[in-house]
Amino acid sequence: MATMPDGTPHESPGAARILVVEDTPAYAEALERTLALEGHRVLLAGRAAEALARARSEPPDLVVLDLGLPDRDGYHVLGELRARGFEGPVLILSARSLEADKVEGFRLGADDYVTKPFGALELLARISALLRRARRSAPAPAPLAVRVVDDATLRARYGLTDRQVAVARLMAEGCTNAELAERLGLSFYTARNHAEQVMAKLRVSNRSSVAPLLHEPA
Ligand code: CA
Repeated sequence: MATMPDGTPHESPGAARILVVEDTPAYAEALERTLALEGHRVLLAGRAAEALARARSEPPDLVVLDLGLPDRDGYHVLGELRARGFEGPVLILSARSLEADKVEGFRLGADDYVTKPFGALELLARISALLRRARRSAPAPAPLAVRVVDDATLRARYGLTDRQVAVARLMAEGCTNAELAERLGLSFYTARNHAEQVMAKLRVSNRSSVAPLLHEPA
């Protein structure tokens, strides 16, 4: 899995946490595979009670909901989720194709309704559309204020020389060794040695971990 510069796992753009509530193993597995291929993280639940517990412990971005479940039906799950204030998209995926079932689903707050058997591509397209819509209407997160750690602090904190501070800042900008050499007027090998020394002093094993150490919350 790729990682962000700060080392946190990076999910592909548009990736979401999706709760799949489905008691038929063959459907659950097919859904999990299909969604995982798109980079989504899938939580599975085979019973209504389990679905509600999972939604509480790991709030999903979207719910795919079967109506026929062994304990309570999907309508109960949907009603409970909405009553608790869950505002994410819910897509009902059911073998019930009667208009009355669909109307009941929408009345309880479903965002889409797909009838089994379903086409994987259509389902993925519908899920993407629901996620896009949900993201557009969600309030933007407040930007995290960060400031650059000053040179003196870097020297004191990591024992860097002035030259190494300059190298670290260029590495944080994403410079390769060749670019370091060019920017600092060094040979490639000298630049590479500096980069290695900087990483050793910062105790990081890859270049993308340098930038986060040069910034801190404002
Ligand atoms: Ca079922």
